Formats: sequence, structure tokens, C-alpha cells
Amino acid sequence: MSIPFLDRLRSAGRLDQLFIDGQWTAPRGTTRMPVVDPSTEEAVAEVALGNAQDVDRAVAAARRAFADWSCCDPKERAEKIGRLHALVLERAETFAQAISLEMGAAIATARSAQVPVAAEHLRVARDLARDYAFMVRRDGMAIVREPIGVCSLITPWNWPLYQITAKVGPSLAAGCTVVLKPSELSPFSAILFAEAVQDAGFPDGVFNLVAGEGHDVGAAMSSHPDVDMVSITGSTRAGILVAQAAAPTVKRVAQELGGKSPNVILPDADLARAVPAGVAAGMRNVGQSCSAPTRMVVPRERLAEVERLAVEAVSRLVVADPRSESATHGPVANRAQFVRVQEMVEAGIAEGARLLCGGSGRPDGLARGFYVRPTVFSDVHTRMRIAQEEIFGPVLCIIPYDTVEEAVAIANDTVYGLGAHVQGEDLGAARAVAARIRSGQVHINNPAWNPHAPFGGYKRSGNGREYGVEGLQEYLETKAILGYEAKESA
Ligand code: NAD
Repeated sequence: MSIPFLDRLRSAGRLDQLFIDGQWTAPRGTTRMPVVDPSTEEAVAEVALGNAQDVDRAVAAARRAFADWSCCDPKERAEKIGRLHALVLERAETFAQAISLEMGAAIATARSAQVPVAAEHLRVARDLARDYAFMVRRDGMAIVREPIGVCSLITPWNWPLYQITAKVGPSLAAGCTVVLKPSELSPFSAILFAEAVQDAGFPDGVFNLVAGEGHDVGAAMSSHPDVDMVSITGSTRAGILVAQAAAPTVKRVAQELGGKSPNVILPDADLARAVPAGVAAGMRNVGQSCSAPTRMVVPRERLAEVERLAVEAVSRLVVADPRSESATHGPVANRAQFVRVQEMVEAGIAEGARLLCGGSGRPDGLARGFYVRPTVFSDVHTRMRIAQEEIFGPVLCIIPYDTVEEAVAIANDTVYGLGAHVQGEDLGAARAVAARIRSGQVHINNPAWNPHAPFGGYKRSGNGREYGVEGLQEYLETKAILGYEAKESA
């Protein structure tokens, strides 16, 4: 099958190259990796992977580039990031096709969510580079916020372009230079992104792309003595390994990791609005979002009504070939994820949760591809595996409560603390619950996504914040210059 963007990348040699020091270059690594279309389970391409030597080359290039990039006028950085933002928007359809092919997002979702929200991080980074006060005067001192240095950026496959721009945008705005390792499972959008960086005219070495696997390239990027900071978005397992590898060289480590986010429906909530919105949020991107609210915590006296509305909402989802315009949901992104979701659905049944819809196996009529059945369990107990472990698939757990006190305890009964939702008509009561939930974000009554809202985890969901001004500050060091202002001689 001919896929225009892929044919072009192949004929330009991009699938066999890394982007280092402003050049497309053959890797020193010799491993190649098939890229599997999750809707057919067939390989559509093979890409070349780098190794630790390629990391050395990329870090050296980034170090050389740091001298000028870190000291240039931030407005110059804003101008380049602005050009990159414009190019991503101009090439939005190609990015959407690439993301849909590499991780199975329905094309409508790729166009309406994956690409535009990714572009937003670049827009915000552009504006911050232009407007942020990198130096302030205080108490007779100058407080200078300077770029931390060379950064290793490691990203996952679930929102592939979005996770890249959430790190590359602010790090470059801060004046850092970077080495990016995208997920080995979603290489196409990253290659297209590197092309856009090149076309935007960034100086050589400011941005480098090294494809590779976590245990190899990712580990080298985390331990490299000339890297100042490593930022990873991925599983808690990988986040721990990165922090361990980074510790001996005392790097700053930012971790955006797993989640098991609650959606607390208060007794006065408008269920006809809250439940379908909660199902949509929990199953968005086929449930493959770290902050997806997959635990719906509901008042026991309204359980039957919640169950009916949840099943109805799921029945409106269209699980189909991601290339079909009518699909709301494609397959999950890869075989490991498919196996994981099946295992967890079976665990839920075995533990005695009540299956309202979905279940194990593929949806009817889809015999091939990593398609899973959107599944809702009710009467879930907070100690069950399906209530505790991140599933990363379209599996919603309805957990009943008797008192609001108990609802808060259930919401917090997790090792994670990334996202949370609260639904209720009495805003004061909803705010009071929001204040007691231990997580980096709480959404009251489903507000729109806000690219300025700091995002990150409490507990084992990570350390640090991305997006907006807090996201920029992650990449800055603070220097106090005392005696900055000359004293009048006595
Ligand atoms: P993953 O942990 O397998 O991989 C994430 C990235 O880390 C990949 O680039 C991978 O190659 C790399 N990696 C793996 N082992 C490594 C190691 N030892 N050293 C360095 N790098 C290593 O995760 P995934 O399967 O790609 O993504 C799913 C996970 O990501 C879920 O747990 C999800 O919750 C999490 N996630 C979190 C956020 C967030 O912002 N908190 C966002 C999206 C996804």
C-alpha cells in the first residue's frame, strides 16, 4: 500500500537516519526496528536505531550549540519557535496521518486533538520566550533565570507529537539545547518534527534526534556526564530507571509518569452531563492517556442511573479502522498494550467486578488489529487490581461510595496523583473536594483543556511540572547576583 508521507520519508532516506548537529546522518547503531500498523498488525516500515555512540555525538553537538543559543536574545528564540509552530500547523495533515499510522489514533482524533494541542505547546513556548522575565531585580540583587544546559528528552507513544512539543518547546525557549529520544514505537511523527525543526532554521546542534530503545539510547541519555537534565514522560518503571541512572551525575530529573485518575461525582451532580463526559474523558485516545479519569467514584444511591448513562455513552463509540472518518476509536497502539488490556479485563472479572459492557476479546467484526472492547465495570472495590493499576486502555471502573468523606478517601487511595475530576452543581462543595484530592490537576465540571495549566504528578506520578510558565521554569537555573547595584560610596 502506498502511503504518501511514508513513501517520501523512505525515498529521502529519513527512516535510516538520525538528526544530529543540523544534519541527517546514518546511525552508528546497527539495529533496525519494524514499525507495526496497529490496525493490521503488519509492519509498514523499518527504522534505524541509534546507540550510545550516537548519544555521545548528539550530546557533543548540543554542548557546542549551547554556548550561543543560551546567550542569544530570547526574542530570537521566540522567532524560531514561532516558525516551528507555523510549520507544524502547515503540515498538520501529514502529522495526523503519521500519528494515526504509528499508534492507531482515529484520524478524526489525530486531526482534532493530537496535532492541534501539540502545536499549542509551541505557541505557548514562543510567547514565553518573548515575554518571560529572565532577570528581575530584588532586594538589591539581580535574580537571573538561566537555561540549565543540555537536556535529554525522552517521550512515549500515546500522544507522540504532543509529548515532544511539551518538552522541546519550553526547553528551547529557556535557552537549553536538547537531545530527543521519542518512543521507538512511534518514530514517524518525530522524524517529521525534526524536519520541521530543520526547516525552521534553528542553529546546528540546538535540537538533535536520536531514535532508539529505552534500555540502550534512553539509558545512555540518562547517565551521560555532559547532560544537565533529563526529562522523561513514560511509565513509572522507566521513570525510576532514569532517575537511578541520572543520580551519580546529580542531574535534574523531571518525571511525568503513570496515573489512575479519579472522577468524583458528587450527589448533586447533573448526571446526564457528567457521566457521558466522564466516559468520553476516560476513554479518549482509547484510554491511552496518563491522566485519563478511569475511576468514576459515584454516590451509591445514584449507581443505577450512572450505570445506565455510562453504558449508553459507550454504545455511541465507534471502534473501527482508524483511517475511517467515522471512527471515534481505533485500536490500542501495540501488541503489548493489547495483551495488557485483555489481562486486566480478565482480572476484573476474576476479582468479582460486575461487567456492564465490553469484556475481553475484540469487538465484533474486527478479527485482526489491536482492537479492544470499550469496557465498563461496576461495583468495583478500590482494592481490586483494576482500581489500582494503570490499564492504559478503554476500561472504566465505577466505584460506589456512601459519604463524600469516603469518596475523597477512594479518590486518594492510589499510589498515583496526576489528574482528577470533580462533578457537582454546588461549586463550593466541588471546590472543597478538589482541595482534598492529592493530584497535580483537578478539573471541576469538565473545563476546556488549558495549555497554561501546569501538569504533573504527586506521589508516583512523577516530579516536576510541564506546560505554561511552570513548564518553562523546569528548564531554568536560578542565579542570584549580589552587589549587582553599585553602592553610593560613603
Ligand atoms: P515506557 O515507559 O515504556 O516508555 C516511555 C519512554 O521511555 C520511551 O521513549 C522508552 O523508550 C523510554 N524508556 C524505557 N525504558 C527506559 C530506560 N530504562 N531508560 C530511559 N528511557 C527508557 O512508556 P510507554 O509505554 O511509551 O507510555 C505509556 C506510559 O507513559 C504510561 O505509564 C503512561 O501513564 C505514561 N505517560 C505519562 C504521561 C504524563 O505526562 N504523566 C503522559 C503520557 C504517558
